[in-house]
Amino acid sequence: MAKKIIITIDGWSSCGKSTLARQLARELGYVYVDSGAMYRAITLYFLRNHIDWTDQKQVKEALEQIVLDFHFNTKTETSEIFLNDENVEYVIRDLVVAEKVSDVAAIKEVREFAVAQQQALGKKKGIVMDGRDIGTVVFPNAELKIFMTADNAVRVERRFRELFEKNPNITIEEVKNNLEMRDYIDSHREVSPLRQADDALVLDNTNLTPEQQLQKALAWVGERVA
Ligand code: C5P
Repeated sequence: MAKKIIITIDGWSSCGKSTLARQLARELGYVYVDSGAMYRAITLYFLRNHIDWTDQKQVKEALEQIVLDFHFNTKTETSEIFLNDENVEYVIRDLVVAEKVSDVAAIKEVREFAVAQQQALGKKKGIVMDGRDIGTVVFPNAELKIFMTADNAVRVERRFRELFEKNPNITIEEVKNNLEMRDYIDSHREVSPLRQADDALVLDNTNLTPEQQLQKALAWVGERVA
């Protein structure tokens, strides 16, 4: 049996990281972990419980009340995130959460909480995790690190189509502003800012079909497990 490795996928918002991560996990029989979902679920908890996240004490106490789990849904063939036993996989995609998540994800205590769980999930290898700091902070020794990028207009268009299905009132301007804001905060924050790891391979999927991007990544995996 081929050796199991850790694959990290980092990059800008809406670059298709989760699509590639899911494809790879399915193809290789690996576990897929969407680290962004963890930050989104924490943000949802803070919003619902009116936590003032500029207050360190409130943040610490709130984190003690949060249990995050992933359960594999055989119908959708993907793992879904549970916040204190409630499936929040869909509600965390709302713009209300997206508008606040980068502020919450910039908090040191929040990152320590999430990173510890992410590292535990990777103990047995055979994992694909996507996010912003996975190759730089969470798994600095990962065997394969991919940094994804795509043309801005293409990213906005993709995310708009995704969100429009659920909310036909959403405008392309709102989506564009949210992506720009998150990219700015994510790459300028003090703790674990988004950056390309020195040993990451860049995958620009502006002009690639999902199948082409999968084949490219699988070729890299092949080199690592050989
Ligand atoms: O990946 P996704 O767009 O769902 O992530 C939502 C937000 O969570 C990002 O904009 C970023 O602020 C935060 N995030 C992070 N570190 C990660 C994954 C996500 O800071 N590893």
